[in-house]
Amino acid sequence: PDRYYSEYIRSVIRTVPDWPEQGVMFRDVTTLFKDKKAFRYLIDAFVQRYYDHGIDAVAGVDARGFILGAPIAYELNTSFIPVRKKGKLPFDTVEESYELEYGSATVELHTDALSKGQRVLLIDDLIATGGTMLAAAKLIQRLGADVVEAAAIIDLPDLGGSAKLKAQGIEVYSICQFD
Ligand code: AMP
Repeated sequence: PDRYYSEYIRSVIRTVPDWPEQGVMFRDVTTLFKDKKAFRYLIDAFVQRYYDHGIDAVAGVDARGFILGAPIAYELNTSFIPVRKKGKLPFDTVEESYELEYGSATVELHTDALSKGQRVLLIDDLIATGGTMLAAAKLIQRLGADVVEAAAIIDLPDLGGSAKLKAQGIEVYSICQFD
């Protein structure tokens, strides 16, 4: 988006050092969502980027991706699809597990959430190692749909996630970056 908008959005993201554990700089977007001007800029930036991309569905990652994905889907006049943490979806699901620093995590999608050839915008608040986005993208692809782009508010390029996604053939977009 316009440099002014992305800098404003970046400026209202709160950084909480050493949370949830020592050494992590947690980028807290609740302060962004609370700022009505920033929240509007943010949603408008995504809508303007994707309105002419022929998007059929916006897939939001549990839970901050829901807050972003729903208004974007509404404005783009598309479906909204929740990618959920394991155990939350009631119908038949496909699942993908991925490694975290300690242990692993699993995300799920309903098997009937998407159909073959649908064009999907995948969205979450932040890309760190890229494990979450990659697992979500694989779920979308397993249903025969296409990931048009994996979009986030924040990219942490030093952690290599966005590069990893690009290496897997997934286009990546972020509004702002932190070291
Ligand atoms: P990853 O799978 O490593 O790319 O991590 C991305 C997910 O973990 C996103 O859903 C983020 O909300 C969360 N996350 C990871 N690192 C941070 C961080 N430094 N600040 C805020 N959220 C984070």
